[in-house]
Amino acid sequence: MSIDQKVRKPLKELGVTAPEEISDLFAGVGDALESERQRLIARGADDEGERERLAKELRDRWLARKNGLISSIDECWLKAAPKELKPAVGRAFNELRKASAALEVNALVKAIPLKHAAKLQGKLSFAGEAGTAEHGGLDLTLPGYRRQHGSVHPVTQVMREIEDIFLGLGFSIESGPEIESVHYNFEALNIPESHPARDDWDTLYIDSQTVLRTHTSPVQIRAMEKHGAPLYIICPGKCYRHDNPDSTHATMFHQVEGLAVDTDISFADLKGTLDFFARKFFGEKIRTNFFPSFFPFTEPSGDLAISCVFCEGKGCRVCKESGWVEVMGCGMVHPEVLRHGGIDPERYSGWAFGLGVERFAMMKYDINDIQLFHQSDVRFLEQF
Ligand SMILES: [Zn+2]
Repeated sequence: MSIDQKVRKPLKELGVTAPEEISDLFAGVGDALESERQRLIARGADDEGERERLAKELRDRWLARKNGLISSIDECWLKAAPKELKPAVGRAFNELRKASAALEVNALVKAIPLKHAAKLQGKLSFAGEAGTAEHGGLDLTLPGYRRQHGSVHPVTQVMREIEDIFLGLGFSIESGPEIESVHYNFEALNIPESHPARDDWDTLYIDSQTVLRTHTSPVQIRAMEKHGAPLYIICPGKCYRHDNPDSTHATMFHQVEGLAVDTDISFADLKGTLDFFARKFFGEKIRTNFFPSFFPFTEPSGDLAISCVFCEGKGCRVCKESGWVEVMGCGMVHPEVLRHGGIDPERYSGWAFGLGVERFAMMKYDINDIQLFHQSDVRFLEQF
């Protein structure tokens, strides 16, 4: 008698009258369930669709509420059982239901292998039998997922390029906090409360004594305090200003500042170093020019201009027909600033410069809007 016929007959008709016969009866059902499951796994499936269809078929055969084998057992054996058999049937039925969890569709789909994957694994000597069991339904013939590789952000690329040039000259890299005290950001740099220059930096204050640093210059003071003289450093990092965003201003941007402190440092050292740097960065054809300027932390102060990279000095829209483009501020470190850093200005002198990394990247790659750097637009970023 097939299992299908059996489960639709009452116990009496099956000749089961004593509680001790119940466990044998249910053991037979459990074996049938397991062998049907094993047969399905041995059969395998051609594709994902077939695998799911087969899994559902077997699940429904046993677990469907209407006409499933388990519900038939519930109806014909358990509910219809005579009083003296009921406890034993109930226990055995609960066990069977637990065992039938192996027929849930997800469990079955995982267990049924895809045929060509199994075949392939048979061919792969390293897979062996363990491999077959381990890989289960994994289809090794499908193409892999292509993961997109990112690349280094253009601002970071340019920053590294600048760092490399100065590292080659014997400078080392210093960093400092982006949340800075008013002392390091302004006072130690010769920008006292009353100084009009303090208004020029529309600063983002955290409280009256704490700001988001408006330049990387505070790192210079910290480095002088920490290392003393002689000192040859560059300070790359993020800065923050309360600027309205437009094509040349952003509330967050990157700077690289440089500082050299030693005995007998003169403006000639500054000019020579920055001229070398500009030609390394923009190309050997570049010429440099220094214009007088003003910064509270340097004396004398200057702006470095390079011959326009777009028109090679002939005059164009970018250089406003002058042939020159200002690229950074620089100057001899103000004696007060050296003193704030704990260095004796009678004995040592120094020069410093500060440049905007985004501006350098814009010039190098002919980009006309600083906002593009911060919009995370892949179409823009993948060009670098
Ligand atoms: Zn030009």
